[in-house]
Amino acid sequence: MIEITGTIINYYFHCKRQCWLFANKINLEDNSELVKIGKEIHKNELESQNNSEISINNVKVDKITKTHLIEIKKSDADFQAARWQLIYYLSKLEEVGIKRKGKLIFKEKNKLDRKVHEVQFTNDLRIELQGIIKDVRELIESEKPDEPTKTSKCKKCAYYEFCIC
Ligand code: SF4
Repeated sequence: MIEITGTIINYYFHCKRQCWLFANKINLEDNSELVKIGKEIHKNELESQNNSEISINNVKVDKITKTHLIEIKKSDADFQAARWQLIYYLSKLEEVGIKRKGKLIFKEKNKLDRKVHEVQFTNDLRIELQGIIKDVRELIESEKPDEPTKTSKCKKCAYYEFCIC
């Protein structure tokens, strides 16, 4: 059975085909310049905060304070993808008895009105997340991915050449 991760949840919102390809280990991420740039920004941000990624119960999070789990993203281009990834992490931490609010910090603010967003892991979100996980599992365990659909997201995607959109 494929293990669901925060990245898989993120890609489910970003692009269903990307989600399937990544979950099924067709991984072109390392070849993408944009992905490399994103990872560098992420690394520098963590170093400037004298912090490093923390791994709890197979969940890699950027930072944990007494009140928040903090995730840092390059841009707010896909807010819902980042938000549900964070919600997924909050649920995984809760499973091991760590309850926190979520905080998303975007280095670049393009679409939204602010760079910092808070998430409270409520019961409604918990129920919604369960439905999403069920849908994600159905998608990634299907025989083949959706056909590529060209959108503005494709140009920045690691699978761009593979999809030939
Ligand atoms: S290139 Fe476009 S269609 Fe292909 S995986 Fe990326 S976002 Fe999806």
